[in-house]
Amino acid sequence: MTNNFQKINVRGVDFAAVTPDEATAICTAMLDGDRVCTVFTPNAEIVQLCVEQPDYYDLYNSGDLVVPDGAGVVKAAKILGRPLPGKVAGVELGERMLAVCAARGDGVYFLGAKPGVAEEAAKRMCSKYPGLSVVGTHDGYFKKSGEESDAVVAAVNASGAGLLFVCLGVPVQERWITDNREKLTAARVCMCLGGSLDVYAGVAQRAPKFFVDHSLEWFYRLMKEPKRIGRMMKLPKFLFGTYLAKIRGKA
Ligand code: UDP
Repeated sequence: MTNNFQKINVRGVDFAAVTPDEATAICTAMLDGDRVCTVFTPNAEIVQLCVEQPDYYDLYNSGDLVVPDGAGVVKAAKILGRPLPGKVAGVELGERMLAVCAARGDGVYFLGAKPGVAEEAAKRMCSKYPGLSVVGTHDGYFKKSGEESDAVVAAVNASGAGLLFVCLGVPVQERWITDNREKLTAARVCMCLGGSLDVYAGVAQRAPKFFVDHSLEWFYRLMKEPKRIGRMMKLPKFLFGTYLAKIRGKA
């Protein structure tokens, strides 16, 4: 079940062709697996990063479950003639897994965001999902290698959490978990979820439904955080490059 799904290559990154329900079922099956699995949720900006810096392909393609967190990737798959079922938002998949863990009794660890945010996210999620056990939290502002990083791994192991949220921002979070997955003794599923802890804690808001329904979440985010303009310029570049790749038959 955990790797029994079709993959669709979008500009070099292999995405799972799954719905949010299927992604949840796969992550749930991973909780019972005998190895550590990683779940990545790249958007178009990250695929464009891979296109521009091909060294990143190995990192992103090493994820056990890689789902498209954004309309841009879904649109590109359509342009290339190999459609994906749709977007699987990381923040939603993470919350679905919190509901699963609350029901099953698996412990969860929140790693990332500014000091205090993971604790607040834990408080809010535990009251939203009765039975949820957040067995540990740590902010994301530690040295990502060496002693400090090893101490974080040791704390995650000591907590006994089966599900780990790694919310350190891209591509730091994917690099950190890939570097450290062999050292994890209890966690079975490690989900890289960017700014999700900020959303769970109420520090950041998701875009209103209108923006989500019209694939304009990026626009809402840009209005809220204009400093992201540089990062977001990757999106039109990505779509333009996808049309070019299609025309040139290099998709
Ligand atoms: N962050 C962190 N440690 C760092 C840098 C960033 O924990 O060294 C956190 C930051 O506080 C925020 C998240 O990582 O909560 C990144 O959020 P963003 O929405 O920018 O996600 P991205 O799009 O970068 O994945």
